[in-house]
Amino acid sequence: MEFVVIALIVLVLLGAAALVVPRMRRGTGGTSTPTIEAPPREAPPQAPPREVPPQAPPREAPTREAAPTAEAPPTTPVPPAPVEVPPSPVEVPALEKPEPTAGRLVRLRARLARSQNLFGKGLMAILARDKFDDETWEELEETLITADVGVEATREIVERVRERSRVHGTASAKDLRAMLADELVAALDPGADRTLRSTPSGDKPAVLLVVGVNGSGKTTTCGKIARVLVADGRSVVLGAADTFRAAAADQLATWAGRVGAEVVRGPEGSDPASVAYDAVKRGVEARVDTVLVDTAGRLQNKVGLMDELGKVKRVVAKHGEVDETLLVLDATTGQNGLEQARVFTEVVDVTGVVLTKLDGTAKGGIVIAVQRKLGIPVKLIGLGEGPDDLAPFEPKAFVDALLDES
Ligand code: GDP
Repeated sequence: MEFVVIALIVLVLLGAAALVVPRMRRGTGGTSTPTIEAPPREAPPQAPPREVPPQAPPREAPTREAAPTAEAPPTTPVPPAPVEVPPSPVEVPALEKPEPTAGRLVRLRARLARSQNLFGKGLMAILARDKFDDETWEELEETLITADVGVEATREIVERVRERSRVHGTASAKDLRAMLADELVAALDPGADRTLRSTPSGDKPAVLLVVGVNGSGKTTTCGKIARVLVADGRSVVLGAADTFRAAAADQLATWAGRVGAEVVRGPEGSDPASVAYDAVKRGVEARVDTVLVDTAGRLQNKVGLMDELGKVKRVVAKHGEVDETLLVLDATTGQNGLEQARVFTEVVDVTGVVLTKLDGTAKGGIVIAVQRKLGIPVKLIGLGEGPDDLAPFEPKAFVDALLDES
């Protein structure tokens, strides 16, 4: 009996052991199930990736060129790919080298003479007459008036030539031409100061305001002047205070970009005076030589214009006086342009005139009329749309071109 009991106990124990062991195995297996990462652990030792790097020469990894080469055809071992002609790298626009101002009128003289060809030919045909009677003098007068010299100035000029030829006795065509040239030069006030006041005084840059009717060529002139200044070694800030014409600021920025000048602009429609103020402020901070401010020229009415330009000028003057106020005039507008110009001279203190588009009119006599009627020296003339088609005005060279009959 005792034996039976022991046998039973042994059996029970064996049974229990049989139950526990599989459970333990399952338990081990249970824990391993989620660790799917396990296999990868095994992988490292298996896959000997370590050997790859040594194969791939470690130097190649860091070299930058490796990347594009690999990116191209990893299969092509041929090295032409790395030849990589720099695929138009960063667009750094090359700065232009503006033409020096000295002698510009000589280059542009041919253009001026061409546009004034009819005028010159007409005058010379008259001066070459064998007989000079009242009618011939009248014809001379008419030709000058047609060329926009203005009635009063023409009368004075012709009267002087007539008087001199009388004193001189019989004058040849050549003599008469020389006399006429003298009188035209005299009418252009050759002694007037035509220097552009663009030199800084002390810490303050020279400030130039550019005013005029829309379309007269203000913005273009600002760009051309900036080039002239840069060509002469000056540093320039341009103020895009023509905030009414959407394209004006962009236009100015393009001009500036070409010579490396800085542009200060405001949002479209913003207050021109505040842009002008900021431009001068920037010029002072950056210690540039000259600040050129392009303004809007809406001729809505005199009061509006006065308010606008007056404010620009006042605000700019907070940094110091404006050194030069240039009035831009379109030569092709003739006497009408003169009337508009007069309004500007009443609103702001114009110190110099820029006569643009002289290449587009055969009426070069307008220069005389402008100077006479406004009493302000013509300082610069525009002879084309090209970037360097702006020249200092020189009365003698101008008259020579005017009387050129070739
Ligand atoms: P703004 O409205 O006064 O600023 O005038 P713009 O500067 O925009 O010029 C008006 C137009 O006149 C543009 O097409 C210029 O290229 C042109 N222009 C300016 N100056 C001259 C010049 O001297 N000769 C010629 N032929 N065109 C010019």
